[in-house]
Amino acid sequence: MSDCIFCKIIAGEIPSSKVYEDDKVLAFLDISQTTQGHTLVIPKEHVRNVLEMSDQTAATVFARLPKLARAVKVATGAKGLNIVNNNEEIAGQTVFHAHIHIIPRYNDQDEIAITFTEHEPDFDALGRLAQDIAKEVEA
Ligand code: 5GP
Ligand code: ZN
Repeated sequence: MSDCIFCKIIAGEIPSSKVYEDDKVLAFLDISQTTQGHTLVIPKEHVRNVLEMSDQTAATVFARLPKLARAVKVATGAKGLNIVNNNEEIAGQTVFHAHIHIIPRYNDQDEIAITFTEHEPDFDALGRLAQDIAKEVEA
């Protein structure tokens, strides 16, 4: 896609610090370096996000994650890492070419906050919601 910044990186029109490349997938350092070694993994196929991804593209891109995550962890000396994927603006997506963040973690004070607030569950409501989602999975 001509006005997509990640397609331009794939085409070599914009420089990037590449860490992995094959015919379907590219991984390169995120320019923001939220923590040292923050890496993006992208399909070479221009697809907006996971919501528009085929099973085949997902299988190819997500299959690279264990190898890349291990490599980032070993090379940086991080103690762990978060793997994050934002879909649509409300979820923090700012570049609309699908990408997965690998964010190394060094200590509790890393400038990244991924927190989940717990709510008291209404088990009947959970059951109905699970059924609604299950129906959509089959649709
Ligand atoms: P999002 O917010 O869409 O999940 O993540 C987009 C990421 O792309 C951001 O973390 C941002 O720093 C990164 N990014 C945006 N433009 C460029 C660029 O030109 N080069 C690199 N390497 N990363 C970029
Ligand atoms: Zn693109």
